[in-house]
Amino acid sequence: MITRQLLDDPELLFLKRPEVERVGEDPAIVERVSAILLDIERGGEDALRRYARELDGWEGDFELTRGEIEAAEALVPETLREHLQRSRERTEAFARAQRSTLQDLEVEVAPGVIAGHRLVPVSSVGAYLPAGRVPLLASPFMTVLVPKVAGVGTVVACAPPQRDGGGIHPSLVYSTTICGADRIFALGGVQALAAMAFGLGGIDPVDMVVGAGNAYVAEAKRQLYGRVGIDLLAGPSEVAVLADETADAELVAADLLGQAEHGPTSPVALVTTSEELGRAVRAEVTRQLEELATADVAGAAWRDHGAIIVTPDREAAAAVSDQLAPEHLEVQTADDDWFHDRLRNYGSLFLGERATVAFSDKGVTGTNHVLPTGHAARYTGGLSVARFLKPLTYQRIEDDAATTPIAEAVVAISATEGLAAHGATAAKRLARVGVR
Ligand code: NAD
Repeated sequence: MITRQLLDDPELLFLKRPEVERVGEDPAIVERVSAILLDIERGGEDALRRYARELDGWEGDFELTRGEIEAAEALVPETLREHLQRSRERTEAFARAQRSTLQDLEVEVAPGVIAGHRLVPVSSVGAYLPAGRVPLLASPFMTVLVPKVAGVGTVVACAPPQRDGGGIHPSLVYSTTICGADRIFALGGVQALAAMAFGLGGIDPVDMVVGAGNAYVAEAKRQLYGRVGIDLLAGPSEVAVLADETADAELVAADLLGQAEHGPTSPVALVTTSEELGRAVRAEVTRQLEELATADVAGAAWRDHGAIIVTPDREAAAAVSDQLAPEHLEVQTADDDWFHDRLRNYGSLFLGERATVAFSDKGVTGTNHVLPTGHAARYTGGLSVARFLKPLTYQRIEDDAATTPIAEAVVAISATEGLAAHGATAAKRLARVGVR
């Protein structure tokens, strides 16, 4: 047992594994999304329009015109435009640097036997921009700009229209436009994913759909996977803070609530080697919740999906953190570098108390904020240019001398497998080079 059992001390709060909801686990959502997708696939444009009306109260055209885009841009305050432009530049710089590390490859694996790969971008991508509760202005940096940097030819973007009938939030239109979206559509939720995957509402069918969203959006991507590619399945946003006695309880509590605010099922955890810090953070969370405008959501997440886990030493703290494999992980300790070297499972890491999750969430530090949740960081990182590049392999045999050992191997393997036609393809090559 790596964690110290403190459950019998009600004063000291919860010592438990934060509960995580995985995409595809809620039967009601699975059924609802399946029914909508089927309806839209069978009913086409009429069904698409019906769901847009029923779920988003939207009666207008789906695609934004050039005039509408310009009108929306004009409504965005100058200062916000500048912040969004600078953030876009940082995200682009980071994505370009990542792209430069990925290269085509060709290697001679045996004399005269050449194997290689070319990195070929996906041809078309549909970016879902979540904006049901609030418009998330950095989303297009991650799901429109990054595929563009990867070389994707066409990127269309869909975002839900605002409930007041005013279309997509003007600032979201602006940030989508500066990221180079080819076309923008006022379509939300499952119907947006359906339109992009099936080719409805004026959208040509795309090869891949990407972007975070609520449980309906994530489930739609799960069900559409195979028919189209997806980035990853993003469940409720998560944070873990790994801290020792040197951490500032006020900042730790604020950072936990900063993610709890995402939704009432967002898991938030403090993993600490200091019981004193655990107690101080618990008190701070209670205090800050009293003043927080979004306390209803953040408080519910903290109550039902929050945890404070006290471990005997830093090795145990790192092991617990790796078990949690959180989407976002903050490290605030006396030796952050030790943790950086040691940790294996997280979506994105925030080292030191100056760095906080919101810096990446809002797209201002350049890294991608579409990240694995629900312990998926055990097997994947977040969205990046690499996800939009297909490593297409090829092989070439340079001369007759190289053919012989390769074809002889295939003749022998195919004979054992009982696959005569496979063997014949190799035997005929042997005959061509004069080997019987
Ligand atoms: P959203 O755009 O994801 O969803 C809004 C749409 O949901 C609406 O357009 C509507 O069509 C659909 N919908 C709502 N109720 C429905 C119902 N009962 N049946 C069918 N469809 C329904 O916006 P949101 O709801 O504000 O959610 C945004 C989510 O994105 C949050 O949960 C947030 O945590 C998540 N997010 C995650 C990441 C990440 O990287 N993990 C990043 C950003 C945002």
